[in-house]
Amino acid sequence: MNPDLSSTNFQKEEFLQGKQIVSLESSSDQYQADAVVVWCFDDQFGPALAVFLKEKNLSHKDLICIAGGLKTLASPDSEDDRVFVLGQIRASIALHRAPRVYLMVHSDCGKYGGLKAFGGDPNKELEEYRLEAKKATDFLIANLGPSIQIEPVFADFQGVWKL
Ligand SMILES: [Zn+2]
Repeated sequence: MNPDLSSTNFQKEEFLQGKQIVSLESSSDQYQADAVVVWCFDDQFGPALAVFLKEKNLSHKDLICIAGGLKTLASPDSEDDRVFVLGQIRASIALHRAPRVYLMVHSDCGKYGGLKAFGGDPNKELEEYRLEAKKATDFLIANLGPSIQIEPVFADFQGVWKL
């Protein structure tokens, strides 16, 4: 049965009564983002993200968490996907004036077929990722202009590295 969504006198408090899941005060202040961070959603690299943000002193980041990280900007499954991610980055720049974009790719990423797609050779994997990072960076520079800084990074099971 469809709920009756018509109302002439909708009351937020009444509606939400008894439905609280989390009690938390969030800041309502506007912020400037220190960066846009494009990161793979693979939770194995969640802890690395947390340490990376700390290391780079990114107190406000706009996080775009997608399978494959920078892959969608370098070699997307479809051009629509690439345009969507570009739109997300543009939104962060427009809304939160983010001055730079970090682009992450990681070892043994499922979107690249894992390390086995490179014959189990970490040298081949990283060599390919360097090309992918260059493609993603060139694409963003072409679309965002030179004023936004683009910094690709590589995560593996030992840490996060400049790429
Ligand atoms: Zn991944």
